[in-house]
Amino acid sequence: MTAGPGIAPAACEASPAQGAVLREHGQRAVFCGLTGIVWLHRKIQDAFFLVVGSRTCAHLLQSAAGVMIFAEPRFATAIIEDRDLAGLADANAELDRIVNQLLARRPEIRMLFLVGSCPSEVIKLDLSRAALRLTAAHSGRVRVVSYSGSGIETTFTQGEDACLAALVPLLPAEPAGAPRSLLVVGSLADVVEGQLKRLLEDMGIGPVHFLPARGMHELPPVGPNTSFLLAQPFLTETARALEGRGARRLTALFPFGSEGTTEWLRAAATAFNVSPDVFRKAVEAPQARARAALEPHRFRLAGKRVFFFPDSQLEVPLARFLARELNMQPVEVGTPYLNRQILAQELALLPTGTRLSEGQDVDKQLDRCRAERPDLTVCGLGIANPLEAEGLTTKWSIELMFSPIQGYDQAGDLAQLMVRPLVRRERLEV
Ligand code: SF4
Repeated sequence: MTAGPGIAPAACEASPAQGAVLREHGQRAVFCGLTGIVWLHRKIQDAFFLVVGSRTCAHLLQSAAGVMIFAEPRFATAIIEDRDLAGLADANAELDRIVNQLLARRPEIRMLFLVGSCPSEVIKLDLSRAALRLTAAHSGRVRVVSYSGSGIETTFTQGEDACLAALVPLLPAEPAGAPRSLLVVGSLADVVEGQLKRLLEDMGIGPVHFLPARGMHELPPVGPNTSFLLAQPFLTETARALEGRGARRLTALFPFGSEGTTEWLRAAATAFNVSPDVFRKAVEAPQARARAALEPHRFRLAGKRVFFFPDSQLEVPLARFLARELNMQPVEVGTPYLNRQILAQELALLPTGTRLSEGQDVDKQLDRCRAERPDLTVCGLGIANPLEAEGLTTKWSIELMFSPIQGYDQAGDLAQLMVRPLVRRERLEV
């Protein structure tokens, strides 16, 4: 979806490490936060996501997730019809009826997310009150939680942030005298989660919990003895909510590539007083595997210029990885929102002079991209096709959210995702 009107001119703001950050508030071409449902519904296995939205929202979800024929999907859209928009029907009564029907038909649902959209915002449907009302009505059977995925309030990955932040108040308090624990925050592919958990446990760090958990009964405890590591860079609200529960955020690079994964693990090791020797023994073999896997890709990518349009908020850590481990040159790194605290270590490692942009004015950014003629442009689906037609080589940023790319054993795959469009372009030109 495209969302957001042009409202203000671009502005520049000083950033000590990187010179000026170009701040833009124009027309955006970014998915809305509903997209996160596509990966979250796979992760939280007893949850159901009910979007309270329009046919457009239903269409977005259906096309982003693909048509599910054989499995009963764990998401749906309660369509707000014209008469609801016109205030002719009681939208709350209608919502209760749909939820009651759904829960009667799907007894396995333990957690129901009511997901707000642009239309539900327009008619000012109070989904947080609806969640309280429906939790009380289905007491003991299902927990109803609400968050917004609307394109007015959220971009692409901010839907996951809103979802996880809504879960934080439901996390049980850690018991008095509980040992220190580590909470890894941000949805990861199961294979990545397993690898990172093993590495942490090999160093004697534990208990290790994950948010999102796989189900209601596995919600991790939280409290002052909880340290948490973000596995994804877009979790500003979730981090704030966890800090509000007394947990402490460990600052680190994000686990992209060999360096990012090592520094992410090192942050946990330092906080849990792991000896340098134990740390080295735990990471040296997978680190060597990651470096070896990157080698052939470095040969193809070194010196290539890469331009990031703002989309997933993964842009800054990815640019750091591509610059430092594959010798690519980031030309412009755009991100929908730049959290300087969470990204402090990442920003410090970007090559000097990398242009950073926050927010978007898509036409101006397209002009800058055309002027730069980068070798590779990482962008949303809507921008990719026109740029390809102009002879630029693109990578869809949504693929980076749907692929397992964190951790040592995925470092080579992440590099390969960047190599593939270049190879495709070379073949086209031969
Ligand atoms: Fe479009 Fe808004 Fe629905 Fe997203 S929430 S699909 S931007 S109408």
